[in-house]
Amino acid sequence: MRVGRPVKPLPHPDCDYCGAPATLARMGDEPYPYRDDHGPLWICVPCQAWIGIFARSTRHVPLGRLADAQLRDLKVKLHAALEPLVQAKVRRDGCNVFEARSKGMKWLAQAIGVEPDKCSIHTLDAEQCERAIAIVEAFEKERGNHPSDSADDDR
Ligand SMILES: [Zn+2]
Repeated sequence: MRVGRPVKPLPHPDCDYCGAPATLARMGDEPYPYRDDHGPLWICVPCQAWIGIFARSTRHVPLGRLADAQLRDLKVKLHAALEPLVQAKVRRDGCNVFEARSKGMKWLAQAIGVEPDKCSIHTLDAEQCERAIAIVEAFEKERGNHPSDSADDDR
């Protein structure tokens, strides 16, 4: 008897707001939300929620959950809040920016109680994003005039 290797199903995310399956859209497709090319993305048209895919992913693996306008806005805010810490770490430790971002996200994941290995800015929901922003802002305030300190000292 021949036992076939199980075929890995293609990832096909559902909308996190209405539960309907998302549609894969590319630049120029009717539901594509941008005028310029941001790469293929999964979109729920009724909710105007979407998420990009991993660069070079042939299976169109989504970066995280679909994000509506509010969540997209929060992700921009969180990114902007975190970036000064990332740049400070790069300057101080001489590590690259991707490493510094990933460490920053691990620190935040722990602080808001989500699984650090599965956490990226794109997997957070609105409530987690808001908590993460508050943590970064509180940290920045506490850091005050010691701009060379970074988020993950000796943790
Ligand atoms: Zn939806």
